[in-house]
Amino acid sequence: MTTRPAAHTVDHELVQAAAEVARTRCRGDNHTMAAAARASDGRIVTGVNAYHFTGGPCAELVVIGAAAAQGVYELATMVAVGDRERGVVPPCGRCRQALLDYFPGLTVIVGAGGRLRQVPIAELLPETYVWADHQLDEA
Ligand SMILES: [Zn+2]
Repeated sequence: MTTRPAAHTVDHELVQAAAEVARTRCRGDNHTMAAAARASDGRIVTGVNAYHFTGGPCAELVVIGAAAAQGVYELATMVAVGDRERGVVPPCGRCRQALLDYFPGLTVIVGAGGRLRQVPIAELLPETYVWADHQLDEA
């Protein structure tokens, strides 16, 4: 049984899970990034990106879908790790917005080497755009 770490304590087990997938499952140019998420119930869900010039999803977005396919709809923490020993890679702008919209309370592991930090997703998006806040009220 895995215990969920306290907020803002870096979830090293999650980093290792993503690193293992990056090391063993990434192939060529199509799959170059792995991500792992800690579900609110403690489970870990992993995925890899599906690169395509039309806008294939990053590993973080694949994890959201993979989690839903397993009946997991609440993610607490996310981390992405690059293939070929590139270590932790921060989420791109598109993923930051998507992660915030799906999971406003999510924390994300960022930073390099031994300087990993686990930060709230909102801290990665200053002056955050929240879609629902900008919709006109329907009469
Ligand atoms: Zn991304």
